[in-house]
Amino acid sequence: GLPVVAIVGRPNVGKSTLVNRIIGRREAIVEERPGVTRDRKEVEAEWNGRAFTLVDTGGWLARGSELDEKVSRQSEQAIASADAILLVVDATTGATEDDDRVARILRGATAPVLVVANKVDGESREHLVWDLLRLGLGDPHPVSALHGRGTGDLLDAVVDAL
Ligand code: GDP
Ligand code: MG
Repeated sequence: GLPVVAIVGRPNVGKSTLVNRIIGRREAIVEERPGVTRDRKEVEAEWNGRAFTLVDTGGWLARGSELDEKVSRQSEQAIASADAILLVVDATTGATEDDDRVARILRGATAPVLVVANKVDGESREHLVWDLLRLGLGDPHPVSALHGRGTGDLLDAVVDAL
């Protein structure tokens, strides 16, 4: 089958918005409330003639309710079967404890991991990415999933990693 690109990250960082941006339609569910996209969602995407499957996970909450545990398991499955992993972080809030925990797990992944610094809507937010170096997963890729800023460069890096 096609190579699999898993998208992981806390609720509300913009994972579904990024999927929608990449596939060019509103297929992933985006809501204003945090953590609304609960299901693992797979869609086919293409960049520079390279096709791949995007898996939008429902977020990563390693503790809490039964639903959260189910979501967490789905994220783990997505990671285990991925050929590349995008860890989406909200650059405007910076890396949280949850982000640190996920990053620690991803540092042991066999697939390449790209840190996506989302919500970098303009030049004035570029400096926010440097704090994310401490996740220990390489240079963050600044994007605005909402406006499309930087997503072409990100996708170049994604297909390079496949
Ligand atoms: P998910 O829970 O990680 O799937 O996050 P969503 O894609 O549902 O987005 C959560 C919220 O962040 C929504 O209100 C989005 O409109 C907003 N959002 C997503 N990407 C961006 C971005 O690049 N810039 C800004 N300013 N807001 C964004
Ligand atoms: Mg979502």
